[in-house]
Amino acid sequence: MPNVPTDNLHQVAAFGRAAISGTSVAAPLPDDVEVSFEFFPPATDGAEDRLWNSIQRLAPLNPKYVSVTYGAGGSTRERTHSTVKRLLDETDLLPAAHLTCVDATTGEIDKVAQDYWDMGVRHIVALRGDPQDTSGVYKPHPGGYAFACDLVSGLRQIGDFNISVGAYPEVHPEARSAKADMDNLKRKIDAGADQAITQYFFDTDVYLRFVDQARAAGIWVPIIPGIMPIHNFKKVANFSKRCGATIPRWLIDLFDGLEDDPETHKLVAASLVAEQCRTLHAFGDKQFHFYTLNQADLTYAICHMLGVRPKPTAGDDDRAEPDNQQSKKQKAI
Ligand SMILES: Cc1cc2nc3c(=O)[nH]c(=O)nc-3n(C[C@H](O)[C@H](O)[C@H](O)COP(=O)(O)OP(=O)(O)OC[C@H]3O[C@@H](n4cnc5c(N)ncnc54)[C@H](O)[C@@H]3O)c2cc1C
Repeated sequence: MPNVPTDNLHQVAAFGRAAISGTSVAAPLPDDVEVSFEFFPPATDGAEDRLWNSIQRLAPLNPKYVSVTYGAGGSTRERTHSTVKRLLDETDLLPAAHLTCVDATTGEIDKVAQDYWDMGVRHIVALRGDPQDTSGVYKPHPGGYAFACDLVSGLRQIGDFNISVGAYPEVHPEARSAKADMDNLKRKIDAGADQAITQYFFDTDVYLRFVDQARAAGIWVPIIPGIMPIHNFKKVANFSKRCGATIPRWLIDLFDGLEDDPETHKLVAASLVAEQCRTLHAFGDKQFHFYTLNQADLTYAICHMLGVRPKPTAGDDDRAEPDNQQSKKQKAI
């Protein structure tokens, strides 16, 4: 965050105006934005096609990395693994594999992590995960990692991974208090995590205050805002109840009446989230992690409005194409 003068209210007000004017429509596009994209592993052939079409659309935006979520149950885990492997084999993208503590021994999780390391994955998003039974109450596996901080410590023994962890601007729903949750984030960083990616949020002030509180708690690693493009407001509102993200009244009003108007819904969602990102950028955030839900269109449009454009690849220059460029071109999707 810039150094805000606090001893002069006029200066503070002027700073505030400057920051906000940086988000106006006519403001020049930032050219320092980095993005990453989250995908989930597909369960059917149709979903697989949708995923890879989305990856193909978003890949030219040159994301810092693309992450693949991890679910409980053998087949879901297998699909994470095969999606990550395909990203490595068929694209130039850097995959980040999510890993959770749920329903597995430390030995089983360590083996998954070791396999990732051996196949060349260097970035893990380390999470506790959510309970898989209907009780809704998380119980650590008796022989497993209990919490994400324990998983981070375990991963540090396996390889020199780049490790991301989850952070909750609105406090994790199971946390005893905001302070206990911040202490938990600090434990994850102290255990060796390199950065935190936040749960999505719609009230930007809540996020900005959270980052201030994290800095005050001695957490100095990058905190990357998780951004949710709203493809379907009703679904996002339902899911938000479970994950503790507040849906403000103004957001309900904004999407009111658009249930059967997908075109307008899409336009509103794109401009809303682009505005959120540009506000965050005005306050110093330069990296954004998009929850794509395997759909490219909104994320692509928002990136465009943030000045993130397709990067020319080696193949775009037809004057010269050495052999190694040719093979890279074949590898790129
Ligand atoms: C960026 C991101 C990506 C995600 N990806 C996935 C995914 O791929 N798959 C998936 O299943 N889920 C995923 N999730 C959801 C995540 O698994 C849930 O939010 C889960 O409930 C918490 O995970 P965590 O790693 O934050 O847990 P932790 O950091 O372990 O914290 C969980 C809760 O336990 C509390 N706690 C921690 N330590 C202790 C302790 N010693 N005693 C008591 N309480 C404690 C914390 O305060 C918090 O309330 C993701 C979440 C985020 C933010």
